[in-house]
Amino acid sequence: MDDKLHDACGVFGVYLDDPERDAAPLVYYGLLALQHRGQESAGIAVMKNLNIDMRKGMGLVTEVFNPEVLDQLKGSAAVGHVRYSTAGSSTIENAQPFVSRFKLGSIAVAHNGTLTNADVVRELLEDSGIGFTASSDSEVIVNLIAKNYRKGLEKALTDTIKFIKGSYALAVLTGEALVGARDPNGIRPLCLGRLSGKAGLSSEAGDGWILSSESCAIDAVGAEFIRNIEPGELVIITHNEVTSFTFSEKTRRAVCSFEYVYFARPDSIIDTIDVYGSRRRAGEILGRESAVAADLVIGVPDSGLPAAIGYGKTTGTPFGLGIVKSRYVARTFIAPDQGKREKAVSVKHNVIKSEVRDKRVVLVDDSIVRGTTSRRLVTILKDAGAREVHIRVCSPPVRCPCYFGIDTPHRKDLISNGTSIGELCASLGADSLAFISVEGLLESLEATAEKSYCLGCFTGEYPIPVSGDQERR
Ligand code: SF4
Repeated sequence: MDDKLHDACGVFGVYLDDPERDAAPLVYYGLLALQHRGQESAGIAVMKNLNIDMRKGMGLVTEVFNPEVLDQLKGSAAVGHVRYSTAGSSTIENAQPFVSRFKLGSIAVAHNGTLTNADVVRELLEDSGIGFTASSDSEVIVNLIAKNYRKGLEKALTDTIKFIKGSYALAVLTGEALVGARDPNGIRPLCLGRLSGKAGLSSEAGDGWILSSESCAIDAVGAEFIRNIEPGELVIITHNEVTSFTFSEKTRRAVCSFEYVYFARPDSIIDTIDVYGSRRRAGEILGRESAVAADLVIGVPDSGLPAAIGYGKTTGTPFGLGIVKSRYVARTFIAPDQGKREKAVSVKHNVIKSEVRDKRVVLVDDSIVRGTTSRRLVTILKDAGAREVHIRVCSPPVRCPCYFGIDTPHRKDLISNGTSIGELCASLGADSLAFISVEGLLESLEATAEKSYCLGCFTGEYPIPVSGDQERR
């Protein structure tokens, strides 16, 4: 029912220099800032004296954790995770972090992404007698690291990540270190921050290091953004030291372009591109590519708003707030039954009638996936008195599924798959419809030969080969 692609997860890790201080409260606030990346489950694992303690549960961060629970999580290093399921169903068994306790120690893994060879690796591990408790592909990673641990931390990590394929941003907690790793194409984001014990929440935590899916969560805990973890990079954070290794051959950088279109928060910076700026530029380019005579441009909140501002700037169309989004029905996709989900979708947006009445309106959205939201928005804008509604979309048509950590409907449910723009416009009831071009999207992301992006769900060309089984989806 939900008419957006969904990011799979957010990861957040903290390593404090002072072993007597607790990292869990900072992870809690970091996960709150990453809540948009997953709302099905949340978890925090902490390390103290080589032992890992963990709490995880279904629901939002505020539903899983309260001050009493956080108070029980003692330890100066921790990793946390928020999840929306792609591989593996939405159950407590699949909630993360995954923890493994074995003879040589214990580890906790928080993973954002999807492994494309998880089935093969799982079978190999099962053949060697290793059992699994969940269906999530992320459990493969924790079991592989545990199996390799006798080789030493660094070798165990590099051997593991050389074996797995697909997309991953990892925050791994061991008795010795907090570890971050990003897949060789850098599909999912991961960045590094420094706590200096001076600002905001970090004043209670002292000095330390942060790993986070997005920089907005580093800001949220009062830490300083240092840099992105590079594609194919492994960082090992120990007391007062951050060591970096490159574990893969140089591969084509293929950062998920949809992170900028929709998933990431606008106040994040991913691989030097600020998300808000890229959305505003996409709107400017859309205005250049497909301007239409209109009295007002409005954006579908929240991610359509910067692009609507950009579109208005290029075309000279006045920008206004025509649609209001209810903040409290965001979890439509996990409402318990179809009837309730449909009602939740229908109360999600409302129109400011005085703003749109008798006007030719340009409606800017970040993407069109199933088309249900666009169709409903055209209807309610026209019911509110808009004379014309022209849809402008700041991503190209979504025609193919994602295999790298994003929940995509089946190919047949993607409304742009096999439909012409004219047919789609008629089916949405709009007066005109235009999408940004692939070239326009790349321009908004300041793409270069070195700074390239995954465009798989738009073009069907993926940075990593996907198997025939996966492709038939
Ligand atoms: S296929 Fe689309 S959603 Fe998936 S990683 Fe590539 S750009 Fe992102």
